[in-house]
Amino acid sequence: MNIITTIEEMQQAAVSLKREGKTIALVPTMGFLHEGHASLLREGRRQGDILVLSIFVNPIQFGQNEDLGRYPRDMERDCRVAAECGADIVFTPDAAGMYPAGFQTSVAVADLSLPLCGASRPGHFDGVATVVTKLFNICQPDVALFGAKDYQQLAVIRRMTRDLNLPVRIVGMPIVREQDGLAMSSRNSYLSLEQRRSALRLSRAIRLVRELYGAGTRDVASLRRAALELIEAEPALTVDYLDFRDGATLELRDTADDATLMALAVKVGNTRLIDNTVLGEELQPCRELC
Ligand code: AMP
Repeated sequence: MNIITTIEEMQQAAVSLKREGKTIALVPTMGFLHEGHASLLREGRRQGDILVLSIFVNPIQFGQNEDLGRYPRDMERDCRVAAECGADIVFTPDAAGMYPAGFQTSVAVADLSLPLCGASRPGHFDGVATVVTKLFNICQPDVALFGAKDYQQLAVIRRMTRDLNLPVRIVGMPIVREQDGLAMSSRNSYLSLEQRRSALRLSRAIRLVRELYGAGTRDVASLRRAALELIEAEPALTVDYLDFRDGATLELRDTADDATLMALAVKVGNTRLIDNTVLGEELQPCRELC
């Protein structure tokens, strides 16, 4: 496994691999890898001749009062996980290389970036779209894999790729959960034992809504009320948003159907957690929630 830290070396490697006729699969991450990232890497291993993992804590997608400075990092462990998952290249550029003095260009996906996390984190998705465009240009992937854990991010990237005719196939992968239902996240490492117990209510609210939907409830106000009651009964949790939206356009819905996305962001202490489900889709892997 080759660890590449400069943009020039990565771009040259990608160009010569492409010249040899190799296909490249890219898994962009911010590191501190967990089983969710590993699922993307394993699928990437199947989908490309060369598997590239990028690890870059992207400063421009963090707001002023967010956790950029304390975002968890463990490069040694990440490289071990990457090797186990069959990565050929780990690309870890630094911020000064990615955003040199004078940098002033950004990619913005208009409507899909506005609601949900875009409303709570202004500019976040411009930062994401910009860094993913750069990573695509540097790593030249044929296919790039993203998790549905960040549902809105996946929607923004799919739209951007289509709108800009980027020659990359976008693959979305299901949310990987802990045994007890908590969606895996690098940010779970911030949680105390007690906070982690409280955080279980996110996935419990998802399970409850899916049960109510399965039993025939279609009225979004009722589904939303049930989910909010469950979450707000735990004083350690503060709901940022809990929305039911069209899974494709992200427009608000008042009647649920199989394509309806339930998405929520909840703060536990200083930690902001997100989770989601599409009501008509299977939970995968769902052993912990079923
Ligand atoms: P991050 O390192 O948090 O930026 O995530 C990198 C990629 O891994 C993104 O495409 C995420 O959606 C994906 N990812 C993060 N957590 C999970 C999870 N629990 N299940 C599936 N994919 C995930």
